[in-house]
Amino acid sequence: MQEKGSISIHTENIFPIIKKFLYSDHEIFLREIVSNAVDATQKLKQLASMGEFKGELGDVRVKVSFDKDAKTITISDAGIGMTGDEVKKYINQIAFSGATDFVEKYKDVTDKEQIIGMFGLGFYSAFMVAKEVEIVTKSHQEGSEAVRWVCDGSTSYSIEKSDKEGRGTDVILHIAEDSEEFLEEHRISQILTKYCKFLPIEIVFGTKEETVKGEDDKEEKVVKDNVINNPTPIWAKSPSDLKDEDYLAFYRELYPMTMDEPLFWIHLNVDYPFNLTGILYFPKVKDQLDLQRNNISLYSRQVFITGEVKDIVPEFLQLLHGVIDSPDIPLNVSRSYLQSDANVKKINNYISKKVSEKLQGIFKNDRPSFEEKWESIGLFVKYGMVADEKFYDRAQKYALLKNVDGKCSTIEEYKAQAEVNQKDKDGNLVVLYANDPALQDGFIQAAKARSYDVVVMDGVLDNHFINTLEQKLEKVQFKRVDAETADKLIDKDEKLESVLSEDDTTKAKEIFEKAIGDSAYAVSVDPLATDDLPLSITRPEFMRRMRDMQRQGGGGPMAFMGSMPEQFTATVNANHPLVTKLVKAENEDEAVALAKQAFNIGLLSQNMLSGADLTDFIKRSVELASK
Ligand code: ADP
Repeated sequence: MQEKGSISIHTENIFPIIKKFLYSDHEIFLREIVSNAVDATQKLKQLASMGEFKGELGDVRVKVSFDKDAKTITISDAGIGMTGDEVKKYINQIAFSGATDFVEKYKDVTDKEQIIGMFGLGFYSAFMVAKEVEIVTKSHQEGSEAVRWVCDGSTSYSIEKSDKEGRGTDVILHIAEDSEEFLEEHRISQILTKYCKFLPIEIVFGTKEETVKGEDDKEEKVVKDNVINNPTPIWAKSPSDLKDEDYLAFYRELYPMTMDEPLFWIHLNVDYPFNLTGILYFPKVKDQLDLQRNNISLYSRQVFITGEVKDIVPEFLQLLHGVIDSPDIPLNVSRSYLQSDANVKKINNYISKKVSEKLQGIFKNDRPSFEEKWESIGLFVKYGMVADEKFYDRAQKYALLKNVDGKCSTIEEYKAQAEVNQKDKDGNLVVLYANDPALQDGFIQAAKARSYDVVVMDGVLDNHFINTLEQKLEKVQFKRVDAETADKLIDKDEKLESVLSEDDTTKAKEIFEKAIGDSAYAVSVDPLATDDLPLSITRPEFMRRMRDMQRQGGGGPMAFMGSMPEQFTATVNANHPLVTKLVKAENEDEAVALAKQAFNIGLLSQNMLSGADLTDFIKRSVELASK
């Protein structure tokens, strides 16, 4: 007996629309059908555990197979199955109305990328790749008759009795000509690995050969079912049941190509006010410029949804690795909608807080290890402090400043130490930093000679971090160690006496201006310590920051400042014997030559002397030395 009917639907023909909407992501059909099979199996197991299903469970693995000649892909389960009425109810009506709603709601969404795989169109996504779909199913209920449902992608279906013996459902997809790529083993395997790797029921696809030790310890090859998934990933387990090795092994499972071990990890596990589990790994950061986003995968009940966790994970933590699983993230909506969802915001805050608590915990319980890992951790912490006020407040307790000798201090500790000697005449604490300690060694040594401390700020984010600290901390100012000559780095209003008369000072200025002959250098003659260089090149902090910001993409008024040529100060040390000698020189040419030499030495100490100037300098030095 065959019964025929018509599916009630407003939209004339829904399938072309489904195809159109899902165009860029056809492969998700397999995820949908396999998840349905897994759901049906779990429902049955649930019934069995409650004693409502009394039969034998038997082999409840989900099986995926394909037949290249018949052009079919079959997904079979031994789950609860459906009666004929259920097929009519669940497959014919509900899904169609759901799809109609969907199309109605999103008919204006033009960016298909925006909705990729984010909605559970479920069963009907099969029609993206199949020209005909068959469901052969038998309910777990005693005395049920099996039925066979067929639909060719139009709005009519047929349903008839079937002789299927075992309980459960086979979904047979008759693949359309334009989708035959899905009839390849490697393609199916790839899709299953991507979406179904952690589904909670074992999924078998084909067979694999394994070598085992048989009798007499002889190696034997055996053919086994190829189970493509790990049904119990560790994020679904309780943290108290897990050891470090488990987390490390899972990291390797997630990132088989990564050689490095993660620094540490956070096991997220919350069920109120939303449900969320997951593991976030802090990777070792080797190259700060080569940081990869999108290393966190989003799952919903162990089904892979997307590799993009935008909005759910705070931006500064998107550099972490791992997985997040939450059934409470609305999936049937576009990503732009995600942002305003209250749960998404809560989840975002929760993750940020958890990460901060973990960091604080390590800092408190194992400061040496925290300091050792600061190189990598610091990047996340600084990013978070720059980007997120709340995170700043939490992290300022454990964020570290590292000085050129490798000593680490918290911000409070540092302030307390530096206040003794590094306050300027207005009571501002001046924090000195180097962004290239090797290059700035001369300046660092000069600062140290005055008992100043110099911190290292050589990371990609440090310019922003410095700005944030200056905004947050009262009366604290950062200055790069080569911004001024050492005496002037921290203005304490203590002027040294100059050995030059006013006239000689003016004369020295003129000679140096002539020798330098470049308006990028503003010449100033000041009394410095006799052991300072005769001439030092410095870059005014303000101008340099403008340029740095512009280089990093700041627009507006900064863009104008940044496009100006770089400005330097050439500070002539009035108290240096060379300068005295030069103003007293009989011959002006000789004086200019000496000034040029002093200028070149200044450039050299900033690693700014190159090309013909360097060659000339060397030549002149040799001549002077042989005089
Ligand atoms: P969703 O899974 O989002 O509910 P679907 O269109 O994928 O929507 O499926 C509709 C319904 O059909 C399911 O809720 C389920 O009741 C039933 N169904 C689908 N596949 C199976 C299956 N393999 N075994 C039993 N029931 C199924």
